[in-house]
Order: sequence, then structure tokens, then C-alpha cells
Amino acid sequence: MMGTITGRTRVVGVWGHPVGHSRSPIMHNAALSALGLDWVYTAFDVPPARLADAVAGVRGLNLVGVNVTVPLKEQVPPFLDTLSDEARRIGAVNTIVNKDGRLHGDSTDGGGFLRALAEAGRPELFGQRALLLGAGGSARAVAFALAGQGCEVTVANRTGEKAHALAQAVSRCYRGRASAAGWGEDAGRADLIVNATSLGLSPHGNAMPALPPGVLDTRPFVYDLIYNPLETRLLQAAREAGCSVSNGLSMLVWQGALSLSLWTGRPLSEMPIAAMVRAVSPLAPEHPVLG
Ligand code: NAP
Repeated sequence: MMGTITGRTRVVGVWGHPVGHSRSPIMHNAALSALGLDWVYTAFDVPPARLADAVAGVRGLNLVGVNVTVPLKEQVPPFLDTLSDEARRIGAVNTIVNKDGRLHGDSTDGGGFLRALAEAGRPELFGQRALLLGAGGSARAVAFALAGQGCEVTVANRTGEKAHALAQAVSRCYRGRASAAGWGEDAGRADLIVNATSLGLSPHGNAMPALPPGVLDTRPFVYDLIYNPLETRLLQAAREAGCSVSNGLSMLVWQGALSLSLWTGRPLSEMPIAAMVRAVSPLAPEHPVLG
């Protein structure tokens, strides 16, 4: 539980639309408590049409910063004063840091995803083949992160043009390391499958993304960015096919820890990962099953 709110309590939070389902407030307030900071983390429902007002509010109310989630990540960069190289590369921001009224945008999704993979026992990505489902804001972060580690990335998305555009953007940055494939069409062997679509996300029905036939036969590692439900139909099918799997809780924790590190200016090693994991894990509080 967070401590008493005082006249000195500072505010940090998350913007989304909708945002009521977010687990970030529970996770971050546990972290703030563990760090002994007199800050409170809350959720703000920001319709895209009010984004400019919300950005002005960060300066006007001297917020510490905010996380930004669906559907605002790709809309917010033009409103900010500076962007990290990562945010500029992927064209999306999930963390705003208020530096004395100057707003800096960064993205911790890619870094959080890579740490989640490492934690799940997949640290070696060089030369591996990844099939990435989706071409939205988080898929962009994942595609650049994987290609940056030397992975060959195939992007498949319902809207094919977006898959092509993402593959081209990644390939411009990491010479030819990405290509696009049709949604559900054969793209060759995959060592890693990542679901970065919202297919399977509660409460919209646990739908299954389109997979190329036989792609689970070679037992790729399957990571689903979704963590609600903890086991999507994709993860269930992959587990039943004998694949190692992981859900998105681990990425939630690591991208959050990286954001917290940016806001506090303290190294990632000082972030209270165990408290954050405990706060978001509904399964086993001491040793949660992240995958
Ligand atoms: P987004 O920008 O809105 O992108 C949504 C993606 O899902 C697009 O590729 C979209 O395809 C696809 N999609 C949506 N409905 C579909 C349908 N009916 N059939 C096929 N494809 C469909 O969202 P995002 O920010 O990238 O987030 C995607 C997912 O990642 C969400 O479930 C989110 O909760 C999760 N996420 C998790 C974490 C974490 O820390 N674990 C972090 C970020 C995001 P089109 O382009 O064809 O519309």
C-alpha cells in the first residue's frame, strides 16, 4: 500500500484510452513504496483529442512524468521537447520525463521486452529467426529491439501495408534484417514467435492470431505481450505443442522498471523488481509464474 499523501507528494501516472484495466498503478505504487518515495502513481483516461491539453498539464502541474499507452504512444512524440534515439527510431513514446518543464520522450518497451526474454532463458538472439505478429506501437518497439540484437524478423499483420512499412523501417536501420509476410502465410522456420497484436486480450474474447501452418512443429519459443488473460489461446496452443512460452507480465515489469529508473535517475539495478512482480502477479506472490 502507498503511504499517506502529503502536501509534498508528487504525481506520476499513465495515460491511455481506455486505461481502467491497467495494472501499472498497482505495480508502480508498490515500487514507489519500496523505494520510500513520496510520489503517487495514478491512471488518466486521455482521449486522443485531449492529448495536447494533457501534455500542457504535465508542465502546468509539475508532474514527475507519465507512461503512455494505447492509443497514444505514436501520437504523443510531436508534442514533446526532446526524444531519445530509441523513441525517434520507433516513432513511439511510452515514457515522458518532465525535466524542469522540458518534456523528454523515451520508449522502454523494447528494452523491457529484451529483459523479459533474457529472464525467460532466451538471451542469445543473434542469427535467430523471429516471426512477429502485429505492426502497432508495441510491435514497432519489439521489431527494432530484435533486429538490434541480430535477429532476422518477419512481420505479419492483418493490415499488410503496415507490416511492409515496419519491415522497411527496421531494414533501413538494421540492413535487411526484416521482411514482411502475409497474415497466416508460410514465412519459413521460426525460432521465436512474438504476439504483439491485441488478439487474445481480455475482455474482447480470447481470439487466436493467424499462424502459418506447421510453424509450432519446430517448437519455437512463444512470447505473448498480453498478460490478461495470463494464458492466451496462442500460448495454450504453443504449450500443448511442446513449445516454451511466456506471457507479457515480465515485459510489463521490466518496461515499468526502466521507466521508473528514468524518472528517479537511479540505475535499473536499484529498482525494486521483486515488489513490482509481487504486485502484478495474481498467482504465487513469492515466486510468480511469469511465463
Ligand atoms: P496497437 O498499436 O493498437 O496495435 C494493435 C495490433 O493488433 C495491430 O497490429 C492490429 O492490426 C492488431 N489487431 C487488432 N485487432 C485485430 C484483429 N481483430 N485481427 C488481427 N489483428 C488485429 O496496440 P499495441 O500498443 O501495439 O499493443 C498490442 C498488444 O500488446 C496489446 O494487447 C497490449 O496490451 C500489449 N502490450 C503489452 C505490453 C507489456 O508490457 N506486456 C506492452 C505494450 C503492449 P492492424 O494493424 O491490422 O489493425
